[in-house]
Amino acid sequence: MADRYLMSVKQSIDYLFIGLGASNCLLILELEKKALLSQKKIIIIEPHQKNKKDKTYCFWATDEDAHNIIEPQCIDKSWSTVILNGKKQDLDPLSYYHVSSLTLYQKTLFVIDKHDATILQNKISDTEPLKRLIIDNSEYIAKYIFDCRPPKTAPTKKHEYYINQSFVGWQIETKEELFDSHSFTMMDFNIPQNGATQFVYVLPFNSKKALVEVTRFGKDVMQREEGEALLKNYISQLGDGYQVTDIEIGCIPMTNASFLDENDSTIRNMGARAGHVKPSTGYAFRSMAMDAQKIAEQIAEDQKEIPASINQKRNNRFAFYDRLLLHILFRTPKWGKPIFKRLFEAIKATEILAFLDEETKLKDEVKIFYALQWKPFIKAVIYDAFSIDRIKNSILVPLFITLIFLVFDGLGIGHINDVILLAGLVFIGIPHGAVDHLIEHNRFNEPICISFIIRYLAQAALMVLLWYLSPALALFFFVGYSVYHFAQADFSEWGVKVTSFWLWGTLLFTGLLLGHPLELSGVLNELTLPGLAVSQGILLKSVWVEIAVIALCTSLVLGITKHVWGMCIVSISLLLALQLSLIQAFGIYFIFQHSRLGWRHIQKHFNVSSRVLWRKSALFSLGAYGLFFLLWFFLNDNWDSYLGTFFIFLSAISFPHVIRMKKFYGYFKREK
Ligand SMILES: Cc1cc2nc3c(=O)[nH]c(=O)nc-3n(C[C@H](O)[C@H](O)[C@H](O)COP(=O)(O)OP(=O)(O)OC[C@H]3O[C@@H](n4cnc5c(N)ncnc54)[C@H](O)[C@@H]3O)c2cc1C
Repeated sequence: MADRYLMSVKQSIDYLFIGLGASNCLLILELEKKALLSQKKIIIIEPHQKNKKDKTYCFWATDEDAHNIIEPQCIDKSWSTVILNGKKQDLDPLSYYHVSSLTLYQKTLFVIDKHDATILQNKISDTEPLKRLIIDNSEYIAKYIFDCRPPKTAPTKKHEYYINQSFVGWQIETKEELFDSHSFTMMDFNIPQNGATQFVYVLPFNSKKALVEVTRFGKDVMQREEGEALLKNYISQLGDGYQVTDIEIGCIPMTNASFLDENDSTIRNMGARAGHVKPSTGYAFRSMAMDAQKIAEQIAEDQKEIPASINQKRNNRFAFYDRLLLHILFRTPKWGKPIFKRLFEAIKATEILAFLDEETKLKDEVKIFYALQWKPFIKAVIYDAFSIDRIKNSILVPLFITLIFLVFDGLGIGHINDVILLAGLVFIGIPHGAVDHLIEHNRFNEPICISFIIRYLAQAALMVLLWYLSPALALFFFVGYSVYHFAQADFSEWGVKVTSFWLWGTLLFTGLLLGHPLELSGVLNELTLPGLAVSQGILLKSVWVEIAVIALCTSLVLGITKHVWGMCIVSISLLLALQLSLIQAFGIYFIFQHSRLGWRHIQKHFNVSSRVLWRKSALFSLGAYGLFFLLWFFLNDNWDSYLGTFFIFLSAISFPHVIRMKKFYGYFKREK
């Protein structure tokens, strides 16, 4: 690889387009509209000639929106009425538009030609470094890179589904006038379902010419012969005497599986690769056009960094609806036809289209779901809500555990809480810090090496030494890096900008520690430090508890104003946990919030299951228990207490861990 770089000639360019797909075409046209291509060096890498019609793009919009999406000359047909369930409906103020892919390509190629852009007929593999792309002894270094190669995605998690939207279409010309050229037929289910969800679209271009397309939502891709047999049958019901003038065969992935992340802010995924294909419908054109507009605006403002594609991590209620429908179509495809038929019967076409555009309000969605068959949706919701994955990844976990602890305490069986904490410590708390050897070099199969162990133990020993020399300094240092480390994991999960990073950590620790002044004083005394002077508060028993309550209420308000619901939940849990002991309150946060998140982040980064990660952590987990007993054994003469020793142990093993996790969140953040 190094040789290749030495031998190549460097070329600095402005725009590098990988693939001349619909999304990059739309972007090129948008950049042209804003005069952002003049005097620019442009390279396009596309293996195909793009001189054939291979797709038709349909979308719905108002007239004004349609002309913002694409120039009116590119639209070869539009329809103002739709036939649904055999009934005609006016689409006003919307129309359904049709764009031929060939028109889009030709228009784009014209622009490319005008700006003397170079098209290289190559294929770029997924492992090729796009930032310094080498082709035929030239190394291209681009200011902006837009990549629309087809995505590689496959469901890896429980709630990820993948079905194919496959279709076979015939453009036909009939002898007689069979079609109403103002109306198109959407999802006509009057065809055999063949164990999937199948329907037909009819897009008439005039009274004798139409594209008739049979579509399947299903696990199996519809084969050409199957589709043609269905088409023959369907068209024979419309009338006799026709001629097939064109064929369209295609397949669109319908999936909610995650897409490749961009790991560099100058490389932007586009189109299907950026998740613009709506999982439940397969429509993408309008969304890609909007994206192109946003990118062009950004470049016009001379912003070097294009924001990451928005659709990658859809996590809103529409993603939930998509997931439910995909679940139903994947598991019980027989429900597809009755659900869509009922939808078209009960809800106006324009309302359905607004829903598919994700522009409805919650009350509209309630109306839609109320009209549909409840049974398959309730089943899908239950399946969705009650999976172990969803429960353990929920932001409510710390609150849930706190409530359980309070109930057990109230029932006088608080010792169960300690058992739960001990189990949590063994299964998550200690193991989440016992894979630091993988994090050190960011390699999952990194063998354990002696020099790492020595370095790690030396850093831990430094902390013990500091406790020995100056407990006050050690405590200050320990609290400082813990504040940083805990806030780092939380913020990484919540996706908050680092503005109030330290503030959150400080509020959290203030609430956690000062909320239990007597126990904190006890621990401080065991560490040979003075305890807190217990002074009477105005509202509560102790002024320290009042400070803790103020700190936690502040973080709650901060969470509400910034819409960081995770912060709100932790703040509420800690407020409730003021009723529990310090060790339990701290244990809940440390195990069920901090360690749980850390474990999940590491799992996600290395893309491994918990079981695999536990195996990797086993040796160092055992080492940690051994270290604890050693410390206990040696320190018990000086600090004759379990709690003090535990505190020192925690600070000693967490110091080298915090160093590694700082490194980890550096690369974890970049890849997010
Ligand atoms: C047949 C069909 C019909 C569709 N109809 C509609 C519709 O009516 N309405 C709608 O909203 N959506 C529709 N879609 C969905 C979506 O709009 C299209 O898939 C759209 O083309 C996606 O655009 P894209 O830029 O992501 O990828 P594409 O348009 O698929 O382009 C990908 C490009 O990358 C190139 N390429 C591939 N491999 C490499 C490589 N290794 N190196 C460099 N280049 C490479 C390809 O040659 C191609 O030019 C349809 C999809 C299909 C398949």
